[in-house]
Amino acid sequence: MTGDPEPRSTGWLAVVGLGPGNPDWLLPEARDVLSQATDLVGYQTYLDMLPAELRISPRLHGSDNGAELGRARHALSLASAGRRVAVVSSGDPGVFAMASAVFEAQSATEAPAEWQSIDIRVVPGVTAALATAARVGAPLGHDWCCISLSDNLKPWSIVERRLVGALDADFVLALYNPVSRHRPTRLAEAFALIRARRAASTPIVLGRDVGRPGERVQVVPLSDVDLDQCDMRTIIIVGSSTTRFGRGGQNGQRVFTPRWYPNVGAER
Ligand code: SAH
Repeated sequence: MTGDPEPRSTGWLAVVGLGPGNPDWLLPEARDVLSQATDLVGYQTYLDMLPAELRISPRLHGSDNGAELGRARHALSLASAGRRVAVVSSGDPGVFAMASAVFEAQSATEAPAEWQSIDIRVVPGVTAALATAARVGAPLGHDWCCISLSDNLKPWSIVERRLVGALDADFVLALYNPVSRHRPTRLAEAFALIRARRAASTPIVLGRDVGRPGERVQVVPLSDVDLDQCDMRTIIIVGSSTTRFGRGGQNGQRVFTPRWYPNVGAER
């Protein structure tokens, strides 16, 4: 390749959240860091999402999905060689994404000594749960939690334990990584746990490609959820016992969780 900037003596490494995909949801800090980087490292699909002006000068290191640790090591090697490296994630880099992978790679026992002095900077982004919630109203207006349904890196028994714990504690749930080719039955298993612990009228939000071309956001009661509508580009928000349908909105699709909880006054 020609035209690459010369390596600098003081490299750095930033893990940068791109938001869901819409350039309006890319924070100014992220834009700054990306424009100063000599090298952008990430899943090719996310590199393709970047605004054109940020994709021109730096060297792009696209890779397949998965392979996070290899990508993190590659980024650390580049930074220790003096490059200014931005590792990109969609949404927030700390939510089921590259930030942890980079710290894991730096802390591994076999990690080279020269990686240890790299000061990793994390630049936040709008995570899919917040973007999707904003589209429909305020479903995350009270206590809520994020659970990844992927059992690539944790056993399914842990996913089940967390689902049951969060459902029994009456959290609103934001479910990431709902389904993949390798585990076609897991989402149905998760919904069996949900149906046993939530009323049939509980509002469910399905957000697919939120903030990207072809965005589709649906709001339905639990009884009407069609799991075939969900894929890896979908996030699912499951209401708590207090989450309700609201008025207005696009196609009347409004959902909110009130700030108060029943019986609070009575318990005081
Ligand atoms: N770091 C990302 C999450 C990565 S895990 C973030 O903070 O958003 C990947 C999962 O995130 C997907 O399987 C999907 O459940 C969810 N997701 C990410 N971007 C999305 C989008 N634009 N629309 C809907 N869901 C999305």
